[in-house]
Amino acid sequence: MAESNLSLRLVLFGPPGAGKGTQGQLLKDQLSIPQITSGDLFRFHLRNETELGKRAGEFMRQGLLVPDEVTIDIVMDKVLELAPEEGFLLDGFPRTLNQAEALDAALSERSRGLDSVVFINVPDDELIRRLSGRYTCRECQAPHGASEEGEAPKKCSSCGGELYQREDDRAEAIAKRLEVYKEETLPLLGFYEQRRILADVPGLGSVEEVNGRVLEALGAGRG
Ligand code: AMP
Repeated sequence: MAESNLSLRLVLFGPPGAGKGTQGQLLKDQLSIPQITSGDLFRFHLRNETELGKRAGEFMRQGLLVPDEVTIDIVMDKVLELAPEEGFLLDGFPRTLNQAEALDAALSERSRGLDSVVFINVPDDELIRRLSGRYTCRECQAPHGASEEGEAPKKCSSCGGELYQREDDRAEAIAKRLEVYKEETLPLLGFYEQRRILADVPGLGSVEEVNGRVLEALGAGRG
């Protein structure tokens, strides 16, 4: 799909709970590209109680999207900080048609556009199960699932940090996030399909299985 693994420009696309964050953490090392995660950018501002964090927090707690006029600037600033030839992995952005068009416009002023949009495809019942049993590391943001018996994990398996349940991973906000995803984000599939850069990857199975499928879809399989 792309000529070089080193400078791929990717979007990880999919509903909340599809595994974008988990796959993104693996891919950024496997492909040596920086990961830009819109939700983490907002959570950083929320923790630091910046004006932006206070504004975004109101939307996030309810499972709503932060308005485009805030989101586009904060994410595009990060993308445009990179050298023009550098690759990147966008996780959680774009989520609206406006955001996708803003990304297209900014990239078309640079050397080239996106190489691939990887859609991690997971059915709703599995998303609800995963999100309601998800614990996030306060330090490195890595997501963790509850045990088969529904017990919360104690510490982050990557860095030993403290785990917590995100406010928007509680039942009401989960339902809202899925509804917002279907209304505002899902239509982007058509947008990227038309550009012939959409890779549809089944997101059920182990982290390693999904990772193998993603690499294969990118033409960067492990042989
Ligand atoms: P996430 O960690 O990707 O589930 O994002 C957490 C929350 O941050 C979302 O529910 C939104 O409120 C906000 N957010 C993250 N990315 C975006 C985006 N591209 N557009 C609007 N809001 C976003």
